[in-house]
Amino acid sequence: MAILDILHFPDPNLRKKARPVETIDARIKTLASDMLETMYKEGGIGLAATQVNVQKRVVVIDLSELRNEPMYLINPEIISSEGVEQMQEGCLSVPDYYDLVERAEKVSFRYLNLAGEAKEVNADGLLAVCIQHEIDHLDGKLFIDYLSPLKRQRLRKKLEKQDKLQAQIL
Ligand code: ZN
Repeated sequence: MAILDILHFPDPNLRKKARPVETIDARIKTLASDMLETMYKEGGIGLAATQVNVQKRVVVIDLSELRNEPMYLINPEIISSEGVEQMQEGCLSVPDYYDLVERAEKVSFRYLNLAGEAKEVNADGLLAVCIQHEIDHLDGKLFIDYLSPLKRQRLRKKLEKQDKLQAQIL
């Protein structure tokens, strides 16, 4: 188990499209458990491999209060969606920023678990939002892409300044 580095916006690697996993081998399992440990440490509820600079379609999610119900999703895919809902979102790759995002209210999605078994889930509420957010990551998309260009520009300047400050301290 290891803690991985999380990429922060506007890192261009966050824009890369992840490739499907062909074989769920030991490397993928290690990646998934390292991602889970990293997500727990950072206090997130979902993490996509793209965020740790690995271009593979792997996502981990845990929505439980006790942080003991991890979901490992290999090659997750939305099959159908309906309705519209707005929820306040944040992201480990966009620190200290939250905003309302409009997404589908209900989604059905499928994925493989770490044993390679195909699973299908009908989700609403937080899980529906979370899976849409994480699959977006795998496609190189961030939740702030849904904001107005002006808001995004301001955010970018703010985060670049923070990075510079950190660089000076180090
Ligand atoms: Zn995110």
